[in-house]
This record gives sequence, C-alpha cells and structure tokens, in this order.
Amino acid sequence: MLGMVDEALLSQTRERVLAWFAEAGRDLPWRATRDPYRVLVAEVLAQQTQAARAAAAWPRFLERFPDVHALAAAAPAEVLRAWQGLGYNRRALALRQTAQAVVERGGWPGTVEELAELPGVGPYTARAVACFALEQPVAPVDTNVARVLVRSLVGTDPAQLTPAARQRLADQALPGPAEEPPRPGASGTAWAWSSALMDVGALHCRPRPRCGGCPLELTCRWRALGPAAPPPRPRAQAPFATSDRRWRGAVVRALAAAPEGLERTALADQVQAGAADRPTGWFDTLLARLESEGMIATGPDGRVRLPA
Ligand code: SF4
Repeated sequence: MLGMVDEALLSQTRERVLAWFAEAGRDLPWRATRDPYRVLVAEVLAQQTQAARAAAAWPRFLERFPDVHALAAAAPAEVLRAWQGLGYNRRALALRQTAQAVVERGGWPGTVEELAELPGVGPYTARAVACFALEQPVAPVDTNVARVLVRSLVGTDPAQLTPAARQRLADQALPGPAEEPPRPGASGTAWAWSSALMDVGALHCRPRPRCGGCPLELTCRWRALGPAAPPPRPRAQAPFATSDRRWRGAVVRALAAAPEGLERTALADQVQAGAADRPTGWFDTLLARLESEGMIATGPDGRVRLPA
C-alpha cells in the first residue's frame, strides 16, 4: 500500500504542511526547549490529556521537579501528589524511574534505540525525545500524526494500516533539510515537520475531519475520495465506569490528600467502594495490585499511604 505514495504528492504535502506551520502552528510552551527532560515531561503529559491542560500542567510540574536529578531523588508519594488531576498515575512513577535511570547512567542517551531502553520509555516516546529534544531526523507517530499521513497520503483510515506500516509511512514522509521554511525556534526539519503534523491532526484532521482550511485540503487523497472515503471510525469508548481505572485513581487521590495514611475501611468509605457492583473482596484485590505496582504502601500500623 505504501508503494502508492508518489514523490510528487509527498513533496507537495511537505511543502504545504511546513508553510502552514510557519504561519499557524500552535504556540505550545515546550516548543521553546530542547532539554530532553522537559521534552519527556511534555510528551508524557500530552499523551494523556488535551494540549491546553498539558500546557498548564507542564510548568507546574517543572517548578516542582526542575530537572532529572530532582525527579529522580523525589519520593513516589511526592511525584504522585504533584501528578493529581493529570490521570494515569502509573505514568508519573514511570517518569520517575526514567529519571533515575538517566541519573544512574550519567546522562541522556543519544539514539532512539538507547532511549527506548530506558525504563518507562516506549518506541514512540524515544522517537519523540530524539526528534523534539535532540532534533534528529526521526518520525514519532502518535494518533494525530497517523491520521494526517494515512488519510492525506494513502486515502484511507489509519486503522487499516498496522502500526509498523504507519511508522514506515511516516519514515518515508520525513522531509529533507532543504524543505524547511524559516521559523524561529525550529532549527531541525524533522522537528518542524513532526510538530506541524501534530498540529494539523489536532486542529483539522481530527477523528471527524475539519477539511476547510486544512493545508492539505487540495492534495489530500482521503478528501479527494469525497463520499467514497472510508468513514472515520467511531472511537472505542473505554468502559470507564465499570473498569478498575476509576477506583485506582480514586484510591491514589484519597491517599494524596491524606499524608498520614488511612485505615482500609476509611479508605474504602472515602472512595465509596461499597457502592460498586463488585464481588466481595474486590477492593482488597485492587489495593493488593496497587501495592504490587508500587503505587501505594501499607505501613506497620496497617494504614495505607502513598509510598515514601
Ligand atoms: S484535508 Fe481533511 S482528511 Fe485530509 S488531511 Fe486535511 S483534515 Fe485530514
């Protein structure tokens, strides 16, 4: 399928996207830094929350943990407290683990492969740090980037391609240095290109695309198909109300607000565990799992706390 992307279309796509970005790219605070730690924090925040919320949370988190050493030295409880309201507490602990590994090895790795070996850093995040901090010519592919590239270059829904095929498409689409327009703060072509794709995906090529005003309106293969275009796939709704995620978050939130810890029964009351339609013993199982993941700890006094 990827063999169908011709160079002329690629070239037009790059030109239009980069020119649009120079005029209309989002002014996100982390775009002014090339510090791998700051970029990593931004990436982890942006993966789970809207850009505006991530932009507000980023300076707050950095004020509390200004560099990799500060985060590495912090107790899990401190990091979890600072993370409240940002969701996915596990990512906060993973970020701390990454910081510890960077401190232990004496600095940041310089390649995607080495970055991906850090605990808590997957292939996407490794590419994002290499691209946005180290300005290397690599293509991080998140859902926004995949939507823009697959729709505009292949004319189909990103779900039709495997993750490996989407990555190959993004690698193929990376522009060379000559195609970068001048833009203050954007010295790397891959940096500008990947930032631009994320913005097109966030502002125009959303799950329900807003093609009017999109820089690819005139060249996009998906748009050209008109009514024949594969319809956007409805987003699968996670069964949030019935999944453990809600309760896991509630437990950590309750403990973040109780530095002295809570008796199990008080904790269960506070998160209204009794109201859950669950089998007997489920709350104990949930606490045991959180404890095994290092998210909570039971003290000698039997009280549950965030881990010191
Ligand atoms: S023209 Fe429409 S479908 Fe194509 S990239 Fe832009 S927003 Fe997406």
